Amino acid sequence: MQTHDNSFGLSDSSLLVTDCFIDGRWCGADDGKTFSVVNPATGRVIAHVPDMGQRETQRAIDAASRALSDWRGRAAKERAVILHRWFELIGEARNDLARLLTVEQGKPLSEALAEVNYGASFVEWFAEEAKRVYGDVIPASRADRRLFVIKQPIGVCAVITPWNFPNAMLARKLAPALAAGCTVVAKPAEQTPLSAFALVELARRAGVPDGVLNVITGDAPTIGRTLTASDRVRKLSFTGSTEVGKLLMQQCAAGVKKISLELGGHAPFIVLHDADVDAAVSGAIVSKFRNAGQTCVCANRFIVHEKIHDEFVNKLVQATRSLVVGNGLEPGVAIGPLVDEPAVAKVRRHIDDALTKGATLACGGKGHPAGPLFFEPTVLGGANANMLLAREETFGPVAPVFQFRDDDAALCLANDTEYG
Ligand code: ADP
Repeated sequence: MQTHDNSFGLSDSSLLVTDCFIDGRWCGADDGKTFSVVNPATGRVIAHVPDMGQRETQRAIDAASRALSDWRGRAAKERAVILHRWFELIGEARNDLARLLTVEQGKPLSEALAEVNYGASFVEWFAEEAKRVYGDVIPASRADRRLFVIKQPIGVCAVITPWNFPNAMLARKLAPALAAGCTVVAKPAEQTPLSAFALVELARRAGVPDGVLNVITGDAPTIGRTLTASDRVRKLSFTGSTEVGKLLMQQCAAGVKKISLELGGHAPFIVLHDADVDAAVSGAIVSKFRNAGQTCVCANRFIVHEKIHDEFVNKLVQATRSLVVGNGLEPGVAIGPLVDEPAVAKVRRHIDDALTKGATLACGGKGHPAGPLFFEPTVLGGANANMLLAREETFGPVAPVFQFRDDDAALCLANDTEYG
């Protein structure tokens, strides 16, 4: 089923799909249950999507399993033709995909568009690489042996993606899997399923055969357990929190499943005494405030030499104050809402903790009148290693500045997290 509500302002309203895709068919949960998707900028419910569980997940695995032998048996070139077509369709639909992304996720439209292009680039790249999956011939230790390696599709892949890059993270996992001849069961984040459904609709139009690409939404722990418990799922690729990554790793251990995990981070941003401060500040703004600070590579700690500390902080504050906060659909907006209430609560907790431990508020530090999930981009001075934000990912628009005197100390500070 597809909705034809055009409140998203899509030029192709059939890209607004609110059902899951199993075995080439759009479908709801067996019991008809749904959960709602909310626009974080307005707080309005924008869609109801299927709340699936064990049975539907199993059905998706069955479909992917049945589709495997035909898909893997095709020439790489044949798969590449379909992927190229998919890439072209994504390109043609880029403005609609970006709008869907902004409405469900909150990031500014320009960032959403950049994400769609970035996601598409994986589809293009892997379409090309599919034809170059070379093996190796290895010198053998005996004259009567010949050793060679051939690469083959591993089988059904489970793909679980986060809400902060709902388009690109999915494209980045689907494209290599499909190009290699694997089939997929994908589960996007519950906050942002619409980008996934739209991508899958375009894959369907591009000619991806029934069962090769399945997408389900619903109860994450149940879907995760079903995927990891299945013998037929041969690989899991996950991007998300370290906590869930560890859990999935444990679940995959039972079947010694192959896994690829992309988890949390705690990026330091070091500014040495001889840095070009203006360049450092523009880099800092991009690195810190993209997606309102909600990316796993966002700088979480600014470690600045004492000689240029005050100049850096002053200029950073100036640049930060100029960032426009608002609904990502409005022109000129640089900072959209945070994804949900727990995200805002974490940002507040980190700021409050830092202030009680000696930080100073250089700018921001509070919610923004644009709505309950909007937060003012914030700069904190006087940060130190005892603060929560020195250990945990803030995942929000907060730039804490640490000071250092010698470069070795800066490196020690940079590396002093469990992330290494
Ligand atoms: P975040 O805290 O940033 O939302 P999560 O790791 O919770 O990050 O979410 C990333 C993805 O993992 C989402 O698709 C989410 O639904 C999924 N997820 C969350 N918990 C589980 C789980 N127990 N098993 C499988 N997937 C899960």
